[in-house]
Amino acid sequence: MGLMSNLLSLYQVDAQVRGLRNRLDSAERYRTAQTRQVQELSLEREELLVHKRQVQANIGNLESENSGLDERLEKLRTVLNGASTNKQYTAVLTELNTVKVSRSECDDRILKEMEKIEAIEDQAQKIKGQHAERSQVLELAERELKQRHEDVGQRLAELEAERELVSSTVPAAELKVFNEMGDTYDGEAMAPIEELSRRRREYACGLCNMHIPFESVAALLSANDSLSLCPACGRILYLLEETRGALAKK
Ligand SMILES: [Zn+2]
Repeated sequence: MGLMSNLLSLYQVDAQVRGLRNRLDSAERYRTAQTRQVQELSLEREELLVHKRQVQANIGNLESENSGLDERLEKLRTVLNGASTNKQYTAVLTELNTVKVSRSECDDRILKEMEKIEAIEDQAQKIKGQHAERSQVLELAERELKQRHEDVGQRLAELEAERELVSSTVPAAELKVFNEMGDTYDGEAMAPIEELSRRRREYACGLCNMHIPFESVAALLSANDSLSLCPACGRILYLLEETRGALAKK
């Protein structure tokens, strides 16, 4: 077996490995995304609960402020009833009215805080619903991932072992080029040479379409076991049987 046919075998098994890996990876990514969404919703719920407790504490403070004001009003009313002079009466009445205004303002603030609590509870309810929905999706995603592992795990292990075996038939330097190109082009490490015009000896890279000097084609024909790389994209060039056959006939 020559270098080129070993590389082509490797190319084939590598494509299968990458295909199965992609199927697993996409299921894995989907599961991770779902997990994150569920976590974010949990976090949002917790933040709402913290906020709710803060607002409840505010209400507590306002309520004790209110009872303080009530006591004050009670005392002022007693003083007012016992007022001995008109001047004293007017002074106490003025103070009483001022305290009443404060009391009413305090009530308004309590109402506003209670409205906040309602809004928080609505929001928490909404998030609870979303959380339940998302948790279901996550459960499905987890089942799907497990299923994929069962479906392709075994085959993937076999193919990876095969790739390992075929890799060992390719010299280290050439294997390095193959792996680098594979990573660069998502598995497309190799490109077939395309014949544009046999008469004018015009050839192109079948994947990036750039012209290839005829020497590269000739080198592959002579099977001298060295790599021909596309001068533009860097992929490892190979001859399709039909191209090789047509050139050999000449
Ligand atoms: Zn190319």
